[in-house]
Amino acid sequence: MERDEYRRCGKELVDYIAEYLGTVRRRRVYPVVEPGYLRPLIPASAPRDPEPWSNIFADVERLIMPGLVHWQSPHMHAYYPALNSWPSLLGDMLSDAINCIGFTWASSPVCTELEMCVLDWLVMMLGLPNHFLHHHPESRGGGVLQSTVSESTLIAMLAARKAKIAELQSDDPSADEAVLASRLVAYASDQAHSSVQKGALITLVKLHLLDTDEDFSLRAKTLSQALEADRRRGLVPFFLCATLGTTGVCAFDCLSELGPLCAREGLWLHVDAAYAGTALVCPEFRRFLRGVEYSDSFTFNPAKWMMVHFDCAALWVRDQWKLQQTFGVNAVYLRHANSGATVDFMNWQIPLSRRFRSLKLWFVIRSFGVLGLQAHVRHGTEMAKYFESLVRSDSHFEIPAKRHLGLVTFRLKGPNSLTEELLAELTQSGTMYLVPATIHQLVIIRFTITSQQTTSADILRDWNIIQQSAAKILKKSPQHHLAS
Ligand SMILES: *Cc1c(COP(=O)(O)O)cnc(C)c1O
Repeated sequence: MERDEYRRCGKELVDYIAEYLGTVRRRRVYPVVEPGYLRPLIPASAPRDPEPWSNIFADVERLIMPGLVHWQSPHMHAYYPALNSWPSLLGDMLSDAINCIGFTWASSPVCTELEMCVLDWLVMMLGLPNHFLHHHPESRGGGVLQSTVSESTLIAMLAARKAKIAELQSDDPSADEAVLASRLVAYASDQAHSSVQKGALITLVKLHLLDTDEDFSLRAKTLSQALEADRRRGLVPFFLCATLGTTGVCAFDCLSELGPLCAREGLWLHVDAAYAGTALVCPEFRRFLRGVEYSDSFTFNPAKWMMVHFDCAALWVRDQWKLQQTFGVNAVYLRHANSGATVDFMNWQIPLSRRFRSLKLWFVIRSFGVLGLQAHVRHGTEMAKYFESLVRSDSHFEIPAKRHLGLVTFRLKGPNSLTEELLAELTQSGTMYLVPATIHQLVIIRFTITSQQTTSADILRDWNIIQQSAAKILKKSPQHHLAS
């Protein structure tokens, strides 16, 4: 195909994307397909001869769209949001075209420098401590973009492990690293994301998941008792992952208590604010940040609520040397004239290669401005409040955990089977997509506001469907109906 023809196809694809995003609310959110449905529709082996673009493009509607969950739909309420936006898409289109692999400063200087500037912007936008800034006279820290928060947490764990082992070795230089590592123990609440468990699996450290209080928040008293018990057993506590905005019910660990305790006890304090981090752009949502001045690392996902599409996870560390001592390698072909004098992000991550992700983040922050991002978060939160008020108005339902930000949890009063049935019915209808969670053996449904297009009419429509489905289920089990 000629270059001009590709240009035409590209424009056609942009039109298709605009049409898709503009009308996504009309599509069935959750697909009707069975496992293996695609295999018979696709040739068993790759085409020998080149195919025209028109054939390939036609297959998007025919084969791809029917198998999708439409994450940008206002009726998508599952998980947490994974939003995109035009500035983000345009930023990545350009980044894909440039396709520079910015592992060192020299491998594309602007790739490193823009990332440093934009991550500093975010520190100030979210009210994070100055010790996370690249450009600040007293800071030894800085921020870096990773693919995911899971990766950020693993990196923080690896750096904390390295630092604690180095500390233990300074007391006992002959001690073997692996033997010392076998005594290390990390902590998180029982509400923490599964990525913390995955991090412990990979790093081979023990992980103790601690009980939370009635608001699903980890408190210092619980941690302090665990530390004492573990030290008595000869273990070495080294790491706490505190969560701001848990995945199950969007609960917040009590950072103002945990921060000072971690500092006193020599624990690396890592904060996972994957979803809720975006909300910190609004000063009224920063009360949970008290204690963040004690954090050694902090991560959140602009790829969730900030309208920067996947992948994009920000990670900040207080001491960049601790990353370099964990991940620094010194291959000759990676050295450059400014090695040592500049930031080489290859030493801040697990892979060598890295995408130019800061471009889409920069485009989004500039296009919306801080005010636009604040309005977006406030709108989503208002929509959640509206849904919460609808649920509260119906005595067949209960809200088992306090609502925070854009997540409402609810269930039908009575046995779990009622809520499970309701969820199955709603999923099958394809009208909206929701996922369950459990808290203290109770099955709950999570209702997340995702799309920036969500209106109160959308919320009302979804609530009416939920109410009608619930009525049908309650009619079938009249004893529960009466019991409530
Ligand atoms: C979504 C989520 C994660 C995982 O994020 P990835 O970027 O997909 O790894 C981690 N922690 C919390 C609290 C989350 O909600």
